[in-house]
Amino acid sequence: MSVLNKNAEKKAKRDEQFTAAAYDPIDTRHHGAIHMPVYQNSLFAFETYAQFEQATKDLMHHHVYSRGNNPTVSYLEQKLADLEEADIAKCFASGMAAITAAILSVVGQGDHVVCVNQAYGPTKEFLGSYMTKFGVETTFIDGSKMENWSAAVRPNTKLLYLESPTSGFFELQNLRKCAELAKSIGAATIIDNTWATPLYQSPLKLGVDLVVHSISKYIGGHSDCIGGVVLGCKKVMEPLCNTEYMLFGGLMTPQTAALVSKGLRTLPLRMERHEASGLQVAEFMSSQPYVSRVNHPGLASHPQYELGLSQMSGSSSLFSFVSPEPVEKLKEWASRLKYFKIGVSWGGFESLVTVNQFISSEADGRPSTIVRLYVGMENPQDLIADLNQAWQAVSSLSQ
Ligand SMILES: *Cc1c(COP(=O)(O)O)cnc(C)c1O
Repeated sequence: MSVLNKNAEKKAKRDEQFTAAAYDPIDTRHHGAIHMPVYQNSLFAFETYAQFEQATKDLMHHHVYSRGNNPTVSYLEQKLADLEEADIAKCFASGMAAITAAILSVVGQGDHVVCVNQAYGPTKEFLGSYMTKFGVETTFIDGSKMENWSAAVRPNTKLLYLESPTSGFFELQNLRKCAELAKSIGAATIIDNTWATPLYQSPLKLGVDLVVHSISKYIGGHSDCIGGVVLGCKKVMEPLCNTEYMLFGGLMTPQTAALVSKGLRTLPLRMERHEASGLQVAEFMSSQPYVSRVNHPGLASHPQYELGLSQMSGSSSLFSFVSPEPVEKLKEWASRLKYFKIGVSWGGFESLVTVNQFISSEADGRPSTIVRLYVGMENPQDLIADLNQAWQAVSSLSQ
């Protein structure tokens, strides 16, 4: 397909997403209330015993008890399923509740898992440490190379766990090829799609079985709630809803679902802004003398830029850079930033920074510093000026 056709297709898809996120038909059950009301109730009552018995046969499709199905939460689940083009979405109390439920829905005692070695820290801890008590063994690999996946799978491999891009070094995995490999050996694939959001990457269409998001990031978008979601086709989601969801009970509350539903309406607008500002700030950082490498999949300098274009339709605004400068100097620099606040998480209106030391294989095992920047809603020119003034200030200190 030509670049022009591809761009036109991308624009059409984005235009559709604006309407899908913002529009709902008028709901006369709620007097046309423009937001889905908060159903603040644990149970639902029935007029006849026959109706009650009918409903309790299928807790996922009837309103019986809010651990199964609450209308405010179901509303959000339907919106998310539509945006991700999934049959079913199920919301959870946190991203981790969603991730652990998804993993437990596909692995059992004695199974083997292959996971990207840069996956989200608590996910790695869950797989690499917690799950060993059920005899589940995980091999962690550099997921950017397809041959590492093929080499790591075993006869008892039941899951390939992906996170593309990863949220430290922003490496990608080839989603189509990983899904193909998994199918060929009878294993499942799960992807943490938090960075790209449901708007900019559709892994289900590329053959991945289950998608998870931390809703606490871009989807919620206002740093006001914690949540997660698992999405997939009916065949994999129905058992997950009836077991890992119902039995662990890590549910999303109706208040959280109402907040997230408001955030979701502006997701396409916010992501366009984050994409443009993120690229602008990342390009600026690429030109800085204290930066040896910028890790942003939307920059042509990213080693997997072409792969990114083939499986994502946009980029978001969390990226990192590697610096040969001492970690203490960069912590001082971070402390002098005005607009970038020091803090974990991302996806809200506010720009954020974290600084960490790591051992670089490229630099002969010497320690390097990795800085993660999250570009929020502020004017990118203000953010660039801020990054500059803080560096001038720490540089004059050390002279
Ligand atoms: C934050 C995050 C999670 C975990 O989500 P919580 O809502 O904090 O439990 C998982 N994956 C990625 C990539 C994240 O950034």
